[in-house]
This record gives sequence, C-alpha cells and structure tokens, in this order.
Amino acid sequence: MTDQLVLPPDPDPAHGLLTAPPPLRRLFCNRTLNLRSIKVIGYDMDYTLIHYHADEWEGRAYAHLRQRLLAQGWPVEHLVFEPDRVQRGLVIDKQLGNILKVNRFGYIKQSMHGTRMLTMDEQRQSYGRTLVDLADSARYVFLNTLFEVSEGCMFAQLVELLDQRLLPETLGYEALYRRVRFTLDRAHVEGELKAEILADPDRYVAIDEELPLALVDQREAGKKLLLITNSEWSYTQAMMSYAFDRFLPEGQTWRDLFSYVVVSARKPGFFSAQALMFEVMEDTGMLRLAEGDLQVGKVYFGGNADRLEKTLGVDGDQIMYVGDHMLTDVLNSKKLQQWRTALILRELEAELEAQLKWAPKQRQIDALMAEKGALEFQFSQLRAQRQRQRLGYGPILTTVAATTEAMNDLRERMIALDGRVAPMVAAAGQIHNRHWGLLMRTGNDKSLLARQIEHHADIYTSRVSNFLYETPFVFLRSLRGSLPHDPE
Ligand code: IMP
Ligand code: MG
Repeated sequence: MTDQLVLPPDPDPAHGLLTAPPPLRRLFCNRTLNLRSIKVIGYDMDYTLIHYHADEWEGRAYAHLRQRLLAQGWPVEHLVFEPDRVQRGLVIDKQLGNILKVNRFGYIKQSMHGTRMLTMDEQRQSYGRTLVDLADSARYVFLNTLFEVSEGCMFAQLVELLDQRLLPETLGYEALYRRVRFTLDRAHVEGELKAEILADPDRYVAIDEELPLALVDQREAGKKLLLITNSEWSYTQAMMSYAFDRFLPEGQTWRDLFSYVVVSARKPGFFSAQALMFEVMEDTGMLRLAEGDLQVGKVYFGGNADRLEKTLGVDGDQIMYVGDHMLTDVLNSKKLQQWRTALILRELEAELEAQLKWAPKQRQIDALMAEKGALEFQFSQLRAQRQRQRLGYGPILTTVAATTEAMNDLRERMIALDGRVAPMVAAAGQIHNRHWGLLMRTGNDKSLLARQIEHHADIYTSRVSNFLYETPFVFLRSLRGSLPHDPE
C-alpha cells in the first residue's frame, strides 16, 4: 500500500494503534452485527461514499428550482435558501401545508406553517388527536435524505406566498407540493445541475481522506464490495474518481475497489422489481442487455437485487447495504431483501457535539425534574389525604388545614421549579437546529427519525470512513436496552 492511504490521527504511541474510536465517529448498533460474517458490502454513492457540503449542493439545487419556478412566472426571485429551515426526518403535511416534527408514537410535537412555527394552541386546533402515519403517503412526506432539504425549504416558503395569494389561485397545498417535487425532480434529471457540480467538485464534495483505506481494508479482508447508485454512469465515474483515485496505490483506481458497479439502479424499485439489467459500454455510455451471470469488474445499469444476489451466491443476511436514504437504501433493502443495513447520517457528528456541549445543562434539567417529580408525588399524597379528610373515610392523619397548608407550600416550590426549568427546556429545544432542535429527539422522547433508524438500520454512523476505526473484523453488539421497570 502507498503512504497516500491515510490513517486516522492520534494512534496510541505504544503500539501505533487506536485505543478507541473518536466519540463522534463511532458505529452505533441497533441489532447485533458481526462484520466478519458479512461477505458482501454494497454501497450507495451520493451522501454515502461521496459526501457533499449540503449547504452548497442543496443551495445549487434550490437555485435551479427557483429558476424554473421563475420561468413559470412565479414571484420567487426574492426567495433565498435557508439551510436550517428544515432538517432530515421532518414530515411535510401536504394537506395543511405544514412541516412537522413528530415523535416515535406519531404525535406531532412541533409544526411550522409557511416559515412560522405554530403555537401549541394552533397546533392543537389543526391536529387535535391526529397521529402521523407515514403509510398515508397521500398526505405525508418524510424527509428521508439531505437531498430533500431544498425541497422542504422551498415548499415552506411557497406556502407563505400561496397564503398571500401571490401564486395561482387554483393551487392548493397539495398541488403546490407536487409542483415543487416535479420541478426539483426535473432539475436532478436534466443535466445542468449535475454539470455545475462536475465543473467545480472542490466546492461541492467534502473529501474524506480516510475513506479509501477503509474500503481497501474491507476488500483485503475478503469482502466483495458493490456500488449501487441511482446516479447515472457519467456522473458516478467522475465523482468516484475525483474522490478516490488520488488516494489509491499507483496504477489503481476506484474501480479496483468494487466487484460490481450498478448505476441508474432505480432504488427503491431495485430491491423489489425485476427490471432488466444492462451492461454499460464504458467509453460510449451505450447499453447492452446483460444476459447470464454478471461479470466482475463490469458496470451495469438498472437491474435488480435478486439478480445480483444470485450472481454473488450469498444469502441476504450475508450482505450489508450502506446508504443515506432512510426509505430507499435502508428500509427497503431490509424489508424486501432481508439485507443487513447501515445508515449514514452525517448530521450525527454535529448533533453529538451539540449534545456533549449541552450535557452539563441536561444534567441540571434532569436533577430539577427529579426534584419536581418528588414534590408531585408528595402533592398527590396530600391531595388524596385531603379528599379522605373531607369525605371522612380511611386513615385521618392530620387536620384539613394542616394538609392545605402543606399543599400550598409544595405548590409554591413546584412553581418556582417550573420557572427555573422552563427556559432551560426551551433552550434545549434549540440545540443543533434553532427551529427544530435535535434530529433524534422530540423533547424528552425519541423522534420519528430515531424510531425509523431503530427499526430499520442495524447500525448507523456519521460516515463510511468510521469503519476504518472499527475494522472489518468488528463484532458490534446492541445494547441491552433500558426498560422503564429496570432497577436503577
Ligand atoms: P444515490 O444516493 O447514490 O443512490 O444517488 C442519488 C441520485 O439521485 C443522485 O444522482 C441524485 O441527483 C438523484 N436524485 C436525488 N433526488 C432526486 C429527485 O428528486 N429526482 C431525481 N433524481 C434525484
Ligand atoms: Mg445516497
């Protein structure tokens, strides 16, 4: 290997080895996974092997979207991309034109109409007992990936214009969403946006120098690596060689890392449908129907997971797929093919950093809430006592007056505690993202995104190069998990 393959910093000086992965770069395990029993690792490309500066990439996507809407005569020239307006894991409610943060049970905890956060009262009036069910795709859209941030931001801003009657009168929120979706889709598919990215990759791509060694380690440990991307061949070829080739040993290119490359895979259909597979003629980009077994080292277009599995001769649980799209890459590969799954969630690094910084404050909140819980317990006891005293049943311990006085005293202490906790809880709701708070939490509970990850991703981590620290030989064990009745 050449010295271009980059090792992680700060090895233990005694052995030249790491003693533990850096805290922000760990692999987090939901379902126990022995990486040694994985024979094949499939990788998604965009936002997985190739990470983009999301503000830049999405900023360009947004600019194309705005340009196309402008060309249709919409008054959007003044709109600007706000990268933190929405975040992955939020839900668009197409019916009411809102963006929602939902907890793991489907309850709506925060909502935004246009670019204004709704008050609790407004939220209650709009939603009452509505539970968000993502299966209701006619109404709800889950923001699955960073590619959907520009869409969410534009939709929120356009809802405002629609409410101000600045858009065509006949449009409703649902049709507005469809127009945004369709227009952004065109921007992705028609070449201009991608051509801009290709013309200036330094601006858009966040190079990860440690990534090539992580993949070489896996390959040399005997794993077959696959690339399965929805991107087209010309884009894939350019991006992968930009991000990998310079770090690989002399004479090798990114192609040497992968046994099979599948472009324009049309995931999620790739995991369920039986689409035809074509071989890509690499120099011309022309396609030829691929018959029989697939051949190592070739590039394929389309096709399906069954065909790939058959060629590889392995079972679903010997394949791990690594991707950033919650539905396409993770939920479907698991549900339809029973592949093992890894979700790449780059925001996790900033989220963990924010949480670490916030931890002392969180401990204070927890202590104050424990104190409040103890006062509430006493208060309820007194309340029951007063009830018995008034109605004359059960053991009578003191006078009604004494009980009332004790209750008044407790009430004052609880109000004082609330006064201290409330601003701290409000501040907690703004860490990581000032509008929406942490990705994985809603208040004290897990967010819908956290629940999706827990259910569908065997492991999750911020970036693929984190496999370098854990090595291809790691045995990842899920935590025992806590239950409310566990002894403390
Ligand atoms: P992957 O993540 O490697 O599978 O690739 C994602 C590909 O899907 C990229 O080429 C994106 O440009 C493309 N993409 C993302 N969003 C859309 C869309 O809304 N319509 C069409 N293509 C999209
Ligand atoms: Mg992707």
